[in-house]
Amino acid sequence: MAKNPSPVSGGRKTPQRFFGKPDTADDQRTPKAPTMVRSRGQVATTYAPGKLFTWEGGRGICLSVPLADLKKPHATQRRMIGEGIDEFVATWAARAANCRPNGAPIYMEQCLDRKFLNGHEVQVDLDAGFEFTNPTKMGYIPYPLLFQCTVCKRLRHYESPETQAKEALPRRCSDHASDWKQVDVVFVHWSGTLEPLTPTRYEYLPNERRVIAYEKCGKCGSDEFTLHNNSTSFSDWYFRCVGCSETSDVTKADKFTRTILGGKQQAGETHEFIEINMLPVSYRANAVQYVQGNRFIVLEDGRRLLLLGPSEHEALAREIATIHNVPFAEPSEVEIQEKLRACGREQEWTEWVELDGDARKEASPGRARAFRKEADAIRQKWFADNLIEKGSVQSSALRQNIALRSAWAKRFDPIRLTLEHATFYDEHVRHKVEERKANNVLSPDRTLSDAVGDPARFADYKRVIGGLLNRSGIKEMVLIRNLPICEYTFGYSRVSPTPIYTREHNNRSVPMPVRLMAFPSLISENSGGSSPIYVLEQDNEAFYVRLDEGQVLKWLEANGVPDLPQLGQLGAAYLEQYQDFKPFMEAYRTREEGQTPRTLCSYIYMLLHSVSHQMIEALAETSGLDRDGIGEHLYPADLAFVLYRRGMTPDLGNISAMWRNQAKTFLGHMMEPRSLRCGSGSLCDARGAACPACILISDISCIAGNQLVSRAALAGGSLPMWEAREGGRDYVTGFFEICA
Ligand SMILES: [Zn+2]
Ligand SMILES: [Zn+2]
Ligand SMILES: [Zn+2]
Ligand SMILES: [Zn+2]
Repeated sequence: MAKNPSPVSGGRKTPQRFFGKPDTADDQRTPKAPTMVRSRGQVATTYAPGKLFTWEGGRGICLSVPLADLKKPHATQRRMIGEGIDEFVATWAARAANCRPNGAPIYMEQCLDRKFLNGHEVQVDLDAGFEFTNPTKMGYIPYPLLFQCTVCKRLRHYESPETQAKEALPRRCSDHASDWKQVDVVFVHWSGTLEPLTPTRYEYLPNERRVIAYEKCGKCGSDEFTLHNNSTSFSDWYFRCVGCSETSDVTKADKFTRTILGGKQQAGETHEFIEINMLPVSYRANAVQYVQGNRFIVLEDGRRLLLLGPSEHEALAREIATIHNVPFAEPSEVEIQEKLRACGREQEWTEWVELDGDARKEASPGRARAFRKEADAIRQKWFADNLIEKGSVQSSALRQNIALRSAWAKRFDPIRLTLEHATFYDEHVRHKVEERKANNVLSPDRTLSDAVGDPARFADYKRVIGGLLNRSGIKEMVLIRNLPICEYTFGYSRVSPTPIYTREHNNRSVPMPVRLMAFPSLISENSGGSSPIYVLEQDNEAFYVRLDEGQVLKWLEANGVPDLPQLGQLGAAYLEQYQDFKPFMEAYRTREEGQTPRTLCSYIYMLLHSVSHQMIEALAETSGLDRDGIGEHLYPADLAFVLYRRGMTPDLGNISAMWRNQAKTFLGHMMEPRSLRCGSGSLCDARGAACPACILISDISCIAGNQLVSRAALAGGSLPMWEAREGGRDYVTGFFEICA
């Protein structure tokens, strides 16, 4: 077992013997970095591999290194993590690689770690190079191993803790007693590089096509330097050679970027030093490392989601048609059986019935798929032999979208979200309500309302809460006590948390591609260079909310949205009319006068998203949860969304406590005119009625990058910025105006 490494206090200025002789039998087998114990959430984020941190006891600055504690997620979870990483990496690459359309060329290697590439193509293979890991323990090594004598400013650098262990820092430094201090500023680059603040120069050698490091003074050959770092501004810092007193700026090329661009410059491309030079930052700065990851609601039953595979169009159309009441014509089972009997193939019918039943009952997605495949093969043959006529979903628009959807941004793909919602509803609403782990807020138990058991007060509760829900256009609202949320982290970036870093230089702003890095390889004998993917799962409280279709239709009508369906067909219409929102909702991002026409899908999404954000705000006001501590998930074709507590620390029941004590205030807050106005006033109203002072939440919490969200959709107001001003139209009727 790993020893508890709780930091030793004692005020040492320099790290002592991190890699010394092992002192237990266990250590002798793997004399590796020491281990620290932190909460799982901290290991996966605050102390993730590649972070710099210090111990309270002054043991110096350390770098986290990953240790293996392998984990096997179940098949559906594994697939959802895999798909999530695929999408994350692909959209990251698309943004980083295209951030400078008219500037110097950008190469895929500058945007993604090799682990996310196959040659120059984006490809993530979780089976090669990654291991699912429990965030239970983290190793650490002292870093940077760059020390400065506070008396004379001289620097001393070690390549590794082992070399330092062999040759300790000298007690005397020329004519005085030394006083060594770890240098707490490091160089970072958006390519993912982290280096100590040494005066090393990286030069590209055109003939050898590689970069070489010069550690010594170019003039006199001395390898001793002093660092003059008294100024508060890094730009005033400088190195001085001890041998010849020559001074140099505190700049250093990024070896990785110089290697790529050196060759390109040789081939005639123009690149500038601001693409190549690293930035000095304090080890404490956020810029040193931004951990990258994602989260999702855990679904156990993956059978519906299997229909999203490339060859399942027919079965997918049927499933969607069933969920959203799309009519489809198909010969009845009786007819099919009759036909088969008439030509002596009744045995095939029996076989099909058996396989179909097995496919429905089978819990393992792999075996269920195998059964389904066999059953389908038999059925296909009946159609192929012209024995029976093939029934079909009676919506060519839906069929067309099913064929197109593989190219859509996954996050907003309403066909995928429809299947996820159906499974979500089965597992986390219907099933949990039966098990009494979830309650429709109109049928609370004693823990959610003290009116339960008192008929008069309970009637009052139902009347008041029911009235508030009606006026908010909410058809169904369920409090779920234990919604399993999976959070995972799989890599990091430096300098910027997003794919683009804008470097300011001489009054120019030059966009730089930020490289998405996998975590460094696990330290273990048999992990074979794999990077960890940290997986955390936790049950948290959540609200499931579904809007009233009739009210939504009325609102769409009031706003003159074209192509409205009959009541009961809104979900189908969403799926039929949907056009790809694209990964970044490009058509809805504009801050200039818009060009995009209003459509059923954009308006429904905007409505649902705005109610969701408004409810996050109300929840933060009343529950004590932080706005950023609340996650959202939208199911647009089902007019539904989920809000859940995001934390990975034990859930203290803030949401249920809020409901018990303040349900009325909470629902009232949603529609309150005051909370539907913005503190920044008319400026925000004129600019799409959405800003961080009112309805916007932080980009990491929002499922849609804060696009398609507006107070005007709820309270009424001027058009969203993206919308074309057609026919003098300048007003959006608010949803709450319709429901009032
Ligand atoms: Zn000294
Ligand atoms: Zn010199
Ligand atoms: Zn605002
Ligand atoms: Zn959002």
